[in-house]
Amino acid sequence: MSGDKLHEECGVFGIFCDDTETDAASLAYYGLLSLQHRGQESAGIAVVKDKTIECRKDMGLVGEVFNDEALLHLKGHAAVGHVRYSTAGSSTIDNAQPFVSRFKLGSIAVAHNGTLTNADVVRELLEDAGIGFTSSSDSEVIVNLIAKNYKKGLEKALTDTIKFIKGSYALVVLTDEALVGARDPNGIRPLCLGKLGNGWILTSESCAIDAIGGEFVRDVEPGELIIINRDQVFSFIFSEKTPRAVCSFEYVYFARPDSVIDAVDVYGARVRAGEILGRESAVEADLVIGVPDSGIPAAIGYGKATNTPFGLGIVKSKYVGRTFIAPHQKQRERAVSVKHNVIKSEIQGKRVVIIDDSIVRGTTSRHLVSILKKAGAKEVHIRVCSPPVRFPCYFGIDTPHRKDLISNGNSVSELCKSLGADSLAFVSVEGLLESLDGKGGYCLGCFTGEYPIPAAGDTESNHPK
Ligand code: SF4
Repeated sequence: MSGDKLHEECGVFGIFCDDTETDAASLAYYGLLSLQHRGQESAGIAVVKDKTIECRKDMGLVGEVFNDEALLHLKGHAAVGHVRYSTAGSSTIDNAQPFVSRFKLGSIAVAHNGTLTNADVVRELLEDAGIGFTSSSDSEVIVNLIAKNYKKGLEKALTDTIKFIKGSYALVVLTDEALVGARDPNGIRPLCLGKLGNGWILTSESCAIDAIGGEFVRDVEPGELIIINRDQVFSFIFSEKTPRAVCSFEYVYFARPDSVIDAVDVYGARVRAGEILGRESAVEADLVIGVPDSGIPAAIGYGKATNTPFGLGIVKSKYVGRTFIAPHQKQRERAVSVKHNVIKSEIQGKRVVIIDDSIVRGTTSRHLVSILKKAGAKEVHIRVCSPPVRFPCYFGIDTPHRKDLISNGNSVSELCKSLGADSLAFVSVEGLLESLDGKGGYCLGCFTGEYPIPAAGDTESNHPK
């Protein structure tokens, strides 16, 4: 994996309706709106009608890319959609998804969440075979590989492609006749199946199924491929049995709290992480607050476990993007200042515990300690419901250079001093696992440096906050 490669955190959505009346694009639009937290740089929807795939995609939020008129031009009974975040260098329309390929035997559209660890090798092979690329995205490797194998029939083309690619993927693929979903053999990125009337949904998070009034059916298993067409829904496991390694950061921060991933509800996991944090590192305080939004469930848990009163304390402007995914340091610092403000009357003269989901660069934490103290907090204690992030992610999450990960090379006490806090503690790795289901089966790579599958080398230039 080269340092210049894309590292994405994305959301995928697919829907297949059994009648020609249902407007799949509108349903995909609402599905994508509820996945907006997974990527805010580009959005796209592809639909199939009369064996033709039409696609619209552009830079911007879902609501900016699609207005009523745009949706009117996307009529069809099945659709796939995508929201994408990318690093600064690759933030171009060329890399927006879904990718569509039209060839002699048919058309396909692919939407992908994840990162392939062997994309360079596969791209080179395809280029040597005369296949051209229009983007730098590894997701285009998948669409070209499926197109190349299509003469073998859809099922064989998909299994051949999927057996060839390595890394993390939650894929939804639209063909002239079917909607297909696939999840990588370790299930690193989430994918679930839902039902709407007689139609079917495949999507990154269950909140998107709820958003369109559907019913959650089940998670797609690691290494499972599901094909949905007019006649049937069938699935099979395409990989050899490998250990499940769902991204633990999904529960810490990425996913919406109203989603359930692999039978663990995200909100419940966050509350439990806070309770465990309280058990592991309680401090005498008058008030516990959470950094909105993802720190709030954990603050409720911490308060319960330690008998500390829970309050709001910090207000967040909902209309500023996540600092985690603002591409430049200056943008991030400005976004942090605009984003959070303190409710002075709640804070003044109190010993405050502030709970955050994670600390990556430290920009947000430093700012929050400073504004809480300025607002009259007597003491500010930071508690974090994930372990220190010390290593990059190779599986679809954009992390900063390792040197910019504030926990890399700094002890907890050095870090506490640098953030200006009165005390600092992180939940342990064991505590994080306990907050999930306590059984394991999670990727913890960015906390421990131990990855579920080999990464193609740490280039020091990779990748989150
Ligand atoms: S390395 Fe971290 S962010 Fe990446 S998949 Fe694993 S747990 Fe998730």
